[in-house]
Amino acid sequence: MPNPVQISGLNYAYGEGEMRRAVLRDINLSIGAGEIVLLTGPSGSGKTTLLTLIGALRAMQQGDCAVLGQQLLGATEDQRVLLRRRIGFIFQQHNLLGFLTARQNVAMSLELDPASNERDRLTLAGSMLDAVGLADRADAPPSQLSGGQRQRVAVARALANNPGLILADEPTAALDRVSGQEVVHLLRDLARSRGVPILLVTHDPRILDIADRIVEMEDGRILDDARSRA
Ligand code: ADP
Ligand code: MG
Repeated sequence: MPNPVQISGLNYAYGEGEMRRAVLRDINLSIGAGEIVLLTGPSGSGKTTLLTLIGALRAMQQGDCAVLGQQLLGATEDQRVLLRRRIGFIFQQHNLLGFLTARQNVAMSLELDPASNERDRLTLAGSMLDAVGLADRADAPPSQLSGGQRQRVAVARALANNPGLILADEPTAALDRVSGQEVVHLLRDLARSRGVPILLVTHDPRILDIADRIVEMEDGRILDDARSRA
């Protein structure tokens, strides 16, 4: 089985011509099956750019990047759309729809499966909310949930689809210490029990303990860190 994420010699630049600025340089990174990798580094070091490339949210420019078996260099938009459906995303802001309940928000991520019907989707969404400890809040809209609860709904939504990979960008940045830890511990436990690998970008030192491996970025490069491979 190939690694869920296998990157070598990835370079990326924003802008054209004189405005062109390299932001990722010679990135080599692999994430093994079920592995939980934290990506840290100062603001502006390129973490989000790398995450969005892996998530097929932007087009690759140079290098090899295979995600869940899909080579992204030269991939078509259709191939990228299909890959995105196999990935669970969690962002700093929960990105829940305000006019839907928690359960409907989770169920929406399941609509991409043409074989599913709405009742089954809502049932599955309910059990995912149960798994994140929100069974009693399933019918509340996001505005009636705390920040930590909203992020737990985002975790339920990201996992509902049985993704092959979870990508999370600063998921605890807007949360206090206790709810931040609650959310990532939940995410880790659920992903672990399903064998889903996680790449989580953070500069929150309070959550580093969930990692199997910590990868540090600086100025567009991954620091070769023997300590993190122990
Ligand atoms: P991080 O997530 O580590 O803070 P980013 O990947 O967001 O880093 O940004 C890396 C660098 O690329 C920064 O210098 C940032 O200003 C620049 N950058 C990010 N997004 C864009 C964009 N859409 N256009 C031009 N430059 C960008
Ligand atoms: Mg960022």
